[in-house]
Amino acid sequence: MPIAEQDVHWVEEPRIGFWEATFLPAIAAGIRTTLGHVTNYRPTTIQFPEVKPELPLHYRGVHRLNRDEQGRVKCVACMLCATACPANCIEIEAEAAPKDWPDRDKFPKSFVLDELRCIYCGMCEEACPVDAIELTHIYDMTGLSREQMTFDREKLLAVYDETKDNPRDPVRTRRGRLGPASEFVDLPAVGPATTVPDSDRSAKLATPGQIRGVVSQE
Ligand code: SF4
Ligand code: SF4
Repeated sequence: MPIAEQDVHWVEEPRIGFWEATFLPAIAAGIRTTLGHVTNYRPTTIQFPEVKPELPLHYRGVHRLNRDEQGRVKCVACMLCATACPANCIEIEAEAAPKDWPDRDKFPKSFVLDELRCIYCGMCEEACPVDAIELTHIYDMTGLSREQMTFDREKLLAVYDETKDNPRDPVRTRRGRLGPASEFVDLPAVGPATTVPDSDRSAKLATPGQIRGVVSQE
């Protein structure tokens, strides 16, 4: 549809005076900014892994597949996340839900997410109508091969089991409406990336059935 004439606003090109044309004011402003950083030096890097980063609540890390109140996978295999994913890194195979699951028609027989191809945009999380897929605060997940970083349904459920009690990774349906991170107006103060001490976390993750345990079993 063509733009209506009254909707068009013409902007006058700003006139450049003599001093602006010499660029001296811009150069002086740049030098002032540089000197300001030099005299008020604050490091923006941290000594990771000894020092953990401070992450905002809406940080988007490794995915998880949530469970419902009965411990079943919450996903209803609607394919909306796979459709919304701009990186095309979610593959779902749906199957008719068991007869004793009257609350849904389908469930994911197979759910595979390539964590290496993912760009962590959060579109899958926003697209999901039942808040079944979410991104967590886990940022230091590693694997020894591409296959280990391709998470299947069980691995994604293991991430849920690992993170569900972490106050930094609440199930968002319990938190209220899910929306873009920029829409959250009640973000708590920024805190440590993980509330689990490193020693506990390593031990926990090394347990078979937990995230890295699941990875290493393959
Ligand atoms: S975070 Fe973005 S790229 Fe990653 S799986 Fe979700 S939609 Fe795809
Ligand atoms: S995770 Fe959510 S959006 Fe993706 S298939 Fe399952 S129910 Fe649908």
